[in-house]
This record gives sequence, C-alpha cells and structure tokens, in this order.
Amino acid sequence: MRVILLGPPGAGKGTQAQGLIAKHGIVQLSTGDMLRTAVAAGTPVGLRAKSIMERGELVPDDVVVAIIADRIDQPDAKRGFVLDGFPRTVPQAEALDRLLGERGLKLDAVIELKVDEGILLQRIEKRIADMTARGEKIRSDDNPEVLKGRLFAYREQTAPLVGHYASKGLLGRVDGMAAVDDVSAQISRILAPAKAPRAPRKAGRKSTAKAAPKAAAMAAPKSKSRAGRRRKSKAAMAVKRTARKGARAGHGPRRPGAKTSQDSAKTVPGGG
Ligand code: AMP
Repeated sequence: MRVILLGPPGAGKGTQAQGLIAKHGIVQLSTGDMLRTAVAAGTPVGLRAKSIMERGELVPDDVVVAIIADRIDQPDAKRGFVLDGFPRTVPQAEALDRLLGERGLKLDAVIELKVDEGILLQRIEKRIADMTARGEKIRSDDNPEVLKGRLFAYREQTAPLVGHYASKGLLGRVDGMAAVDDVSAQISRILAPAKAPRAPRKAGRKSTAKAAPKAAAMAAPKSKSRAGRRRKSKAAMAVKRTARKGARAGHGPRRPGAKTSQDSAKTVPGGG
C-alpha cells in the first residue's frame, strides 16, 4: 500500500502515519525526519537545509525529491509506504508521479487531514508553552512565529496538491480535528477498498466481474481460426475491464468521473 498524508503542520500526520505502519506493515517516509537527521549529522544536504528549516520555509524541491527517490528504492519500502510531509509542492508531486511511474508503482490514496488553522495554531502554541514549562526539548522550528510561516507555506505551496490529487481521483478527506482514534477510523474506511483482495476468477461465479467473460463470449462471433480466437479474447478482456471499473465505482478513492474539482474527493462521515 502506498499512501500520502496531506495536511498542515500539527494536523496529526505523524500520529496517523504511526497507526498505518503498525496496521499495514509499511514504512513511514517523513522528509522532515530525514532532513532533521541530515542536519544533525552535518551532511551536505543537512548544511543546505538547516537555515531554511529554521525559518519555516521549504527546502528546494530537487533536494527532497533526491532523498525520496533514494528512499523508496530501499528494501523496507518494497511492501509499501506512507509519505508524511512529501510531496509539499506541485513540482514535487509531479516528480513523485514520475518516480513511481518509472518503477511501475501506483499510489493507493492521498488523504487530506482537514483542520481549522486557527484552532490548530492555538493548540500548538499551548503544546509548545507546556513543553517549555516542563523543560522539555522542542524542535527549533516549533515556535509560534516560525509555525505561522510553516502554515503560510502550506497554504501557498502545498494546498494546491489537493486539486492535483483530486483530479486523479485519489483524494480522500478526513476531519483532522476529531479524536485520534476517530481520524484513524475515517482513514481505514477510505483505505479499505484499496487493500481489499480481488475476487478470485473462477468459472461459474456470479459477480459482475465474473459474468464479463461470458458476456464477451456471447458478444464475440464464434471463430475457430487463431486470429478469430485472438479477436474474441481481446473482446473478452475489454468487457472484463469495463466490468471491473463498474465494480470499483464509488468504493475507493480512484473513482471514474472524478475529474478536476475538489468535489471529487471522498469525505467520510464527520469529515470536513
Ligand atoms: P515537517 O517535520 O514535515 O514539518 O518538516 C519540517 C521542515 O522540513 C519543513 O518546515 C521544511 O523546512 C522541511 N521539509 C520537510 N519536508 C519537505 C518537503 N517535502 N519539501 C520541502 N521542505 C520540506
């Protein structure tokens, strides 16, 4: 399973990513974590990213795309991954489309955690104040001023991804202001069709997809020649494809008819 979690800082992407990796045996790919590791290690990427991150701005696309390109090829990412904090710009999303396409991989869903920014800011400010009062270490970019910049960067550069993925029929939306378990349940409902196994294709079953070969056999003229049989089997494949599309309709994020508007996003009950 390959999933993107989309949402502003503090929306709960990291928490939900943890739930997904435990449930599906996939890995979390957080560009923020990778960049912080690079900064701590003082690598060339880290040196380049440090001051940008401290200002709450976005690290250049080529840097994060190179990190992700390398990471998705690691053996532990073969079973699938949840992307947390990537992509954050349209060019990054396009680069990801290319990277996945080159590898014959597909995204299962992009989940937007919808939040109220005003309440989010108050929550994060309170959390930072509490942590500071307890003497706990906080991230250098976790202060109210930088946070406002990170929210601004989200609105300006990342929010357009909602349209990008809605137009591909991949977007699902959840109410990120709900309780953590509730958000997890909403995400599970969106992902359920993505991981549901396909019905086995045995003769005699009566599902729509099963009836397809029969329909094709009836539609195609009988022929004993090799070319005729090939034509017939092509017709059968076409009908099967149509039936499968029909069976999928309305059950997953990838829905026929989901064109360009954000309305095509699937919102689960309680979502915003
Ligand atoms: P995060 O932990 O995801 O909030 O990321 C922390 C910081 O790392 C961000 O404010 C950016 O400066 C940088 N960063 C993380 N992911 C990306 C990305 N995909 N593109 C650009 N900058 C990023």
